[in-house]
Amino acid sequence: MLTQTLAELSRDLKARKVSSAEVTSAYLARIQRFNPQINAFITVLQEQALAEARAADARIAKGDAHLLTGVPIAHKDIFCTAGVKTSCGSKMLDNFVAPYDAHIVTRLKQAGSVLLGKTNMDEFAMGSSNETSFYGPVKNPWDSTRVPGGSSGGSAAVVAARLACAATGTDTGGSIRQPAALVGLTGVKPTYGRVSRYGMIAFASSLDQAGVIAYTAEDAALLLSVIAGFDPRDSTSVDRPVPDYAATLEQPIRGLRIGVPREFFDPGLDRRVAEAVQTALSIYKKLGARVQDISLPNFGLSVPTYYVVAPAEASSNLSRFDGVRFGHRCGNPVDLMDLYTRSRGEGFGAEVKRRIMTGTYVLSAGYYDAYYLKAQKTRALIRRDFLEAFTHVDVIMGPTTPTPAFRLGEKTDDPVTMYLNDIYANGVNLAGLPGLSIPMGFVDGLPVGLQIIGNYFDEARMLGVAHQYQRETDWHRQVPKGFE
Ligand code: GLN
Repeated sequence: MLTQTLAELSRDLKARKVSSAEVTSAYLARIQRFNPQINAFITVLQEQALAEARAADARIAKGDAHLLTGVPIAHKDIFCTAGVKTSCGSKMLDNFVAPYDAHIVTRLKQAGSVLLGKTNMDEFAMGSSNETSFYGPVKNPWDSTRVPGGSSGGSAAVVAARLACAATGTDTGGSIRQPAALVGLTGVKPTYGRVSRYGMIAFASSLDQAGVIAYTAEDAALLLSVIAGFDPRDSTSVDRPVPDYAATLEQPIRGLRIGVPREFFDPGLDRRVAEAVQTALSIYKKLGARVQDISLPNFGLSVPTYYVVAPAEASSNLSRFDGVRFGHRCGNPVDLMDLYTRSRGEGFGAEVKRRIMTGTYVLSAGYYDAYYLKAQKTRALIRRDFLEAFTHVDVIMGPTTPTPAFRLGEKTDDPVTMYLNDIYANGVNLAGLPGLSIPMGFVDGLPVGLQIIGNYFDEARMLGVAHQYQRETDWHRQVPKGFE
């Protein structure tokens, strides 16, 4: 029962072959059994989930159910959940109980989904391995000595281990696509502005976007149709109609123009990952797609640009954690400066401090032009490359990550190698484009992901393209050993 996709579970719930209370209890039992091994949940909502499941069953019985009614999911602990701890993976917010729901939490609640709990994540979503979390690292269900990716590593691990049917995530520079790739799932980052950021704790506001991690493109389409849409509480939310993403999954691939950026096949890319991309492309060719070599000439600037823009915005966003209004406060401050410095010094971990310091530096009067302003210019060039490419291709494809999941501890002493794990992801955020990752095979027994990048607000096509691949393959059906 728990190896079903969300779409399959939804059909069974609606047909009343199974009740939400049964499925929810089964998930809760699995969480109790497996979560200690993988450390993927920060908070489990046992009683609340069962109550929501019973309410969902009543709604299904009355016949006014939504497709998601009764489906058990998990939220990344970056989304505010009323009355529930919302830690953002940080000691700073370990004592924070959110007073309201994030927009997407409300949307998924209204659809009748059941919330199993809040998932572990890199502190303030800064990281690519989940090792910066105050709550300890998450283990990859495919190999417990390896990372699940980050920052949405907990969300990726709970879905891969079948401890939730799907989970939410956020992607500032790859944090949905990279963990989805490293655990063999489908991860979708929508166009910037497609999903409201209201109630999502801010990391880098011009890059942050909410999305989902699920088994299939079809599952992701069902979820995205619920969370996408205009919200006046987020000034960057875009007011345009939300298509029924699940209704357009069957568009044929024939005639599709796929661009493959030659710059993605750089020396840092594992040869076996590159081969897996070629194999995936051959499936698309067989389905009638035209694969073209393209160039994103400024691709090499995306990591350095991202690591100026993201820390700059983070340094500003995180100034609100001052020990005064909410979050960690140091004991017995002697004066205001002591309160600020000790509260922040004690509440934030090393990676967050590194970002705040870098960000403050690049924004400082003496260096603003040299770094921040320059990064804004290179960001414009990166965006222009994508726009140019989309004048002659429909989607762009390549690897999601350079390698399969790396070992825990392998990159923790070297931030730059850690940052490079998102080399194929960062540019998509800088341009504000939608991107997704789908499982495309295994390297050394570990899953690897194919990245599909769409044009602005072209999620429907991107999801359809992913879905057609999943009809031809069964990578998305694989369950890690020991979690069957
Ligand atoms: N790994 C990138 C970083 O550390 C991306 C994080 C994210 O997308 N939240 O900033």
